[in-house]
Amino acid sequence: MSLIFIAPPLQLNTSEIARYAGVDLYVLRLDLMHPWVNGNKWFKLKYNLLEAKEKNFTTLLTFGGAYSNHIYATAAAGNLFGFRTIGVIRGEERLPLNPTLSFAVQQGMQLVYLNRETYRQRNTPALHEYLQQRFGEVFIIPEGGSNLNGVRGCTEIVNEAIAFDYICVACGTATTLAGIVLSLHQGQKAIAFPVLKNGAFLAQEIESLLTNYLASGLPAPYSSPASWELVCDYHFGGYAKVNNELRLFSQQFTQEHNVPLDYVYTAKMFYGVMDLLKQGFFCRGVPQRGCRRHRLLLVHTGGLQGNIGMEKLWSDRNAI
Ligand SMILES: *Cc1c(COP(=O)(O)O)cnc(C)c1O
Repeated sequence: MSLIFIAPPLQLNTSEIARYAGVDLYVLRLDLMHPWVNGNKWFKLKYNLLEAKEKNFTTLLTFGGAYSNHIYATAAAGNLFGFRTIGVIRGEERLPLNPTLSFAVQQGMQLVYLNRETYRQRNTPALHEYLQQRFGEVFIIPEGGSNLNGVRGCTEIVNEAIAFDYICVACGTATTLAGIVLSLHQGQKAIAFPVLKNGAFLAQEIESLLTNYLASGLPAPYSSPASWELVCDYHFGGYAKVNNELRLFSQQFTQEHNVPLDYVYTAKMFYGVMDLLKQGFFCRGVPQRGCRRHRLLLVHTGGLQGNIGMEKLWSDRNAI
């Protein structure tokens, strides 16, 4: 099994706002690594797939919502690397399938639906046992690929990005952030933008992810994690909530810079960064390694597949 993808391109963003704010802005385009298996979801899958292969599993089973980037990536990666895949989907089946799920089925994924109450038990041994009985020997990957294997993959996202002062990333479970923090050098700082309401609770999650990872003995580039900060003001009402301002921002940004953004994650992070630039947020302290200006790396975590379903929902709604 070959797990080599082309390194994601770095793109310099020539935003007026950045120039005005006196920083250099780069975008790490994880969305461009592979047409289907890309973004942070690939990094979270990588070591899960390797473990499954090593343990001779032929079937992967995982969990997600009906628009899940993780379901999409798992279906495609399973197909690419020769695994059967089963996707356990939250809620009732709705036909016709939305674009995310119909892609998953095209990639050979078998879909199973659990009502919301049962789905809530997705991390319990009891439900895992039930699923093993129903589907046989399956390698279970948690929702979002959010386990220590997932963190490990994410330590490889910005590994060599030593020239940057700030690494900015959108944040759901903070698995990706934890991996990034574990790979930063001293003096670098990760800025995380939760896309959920009241994201401050993530601070504790992050600490325990870091502690558990370091205690696990899995490889960590640096044993003393670098610093990080949560910026909780750019959730736009909560998970997958989008208002007109965010929609407009996202569309304008795509047009101006040729960087498409997904509405659920990256649009909120990019919006937040642009807003903070105006406030001089990133100009504190001395720039890294003799640079004259502070350098920011915005991690584009992918997720663009979700826009198709979301835009379809909006146009259906307008048609009523
Ligand atoms: C899942 C996802 C995230 C959030 O990753 P976490 O590791 O859960 O914090 C961010 N961006 C995109 C595009 C995603 O699909």
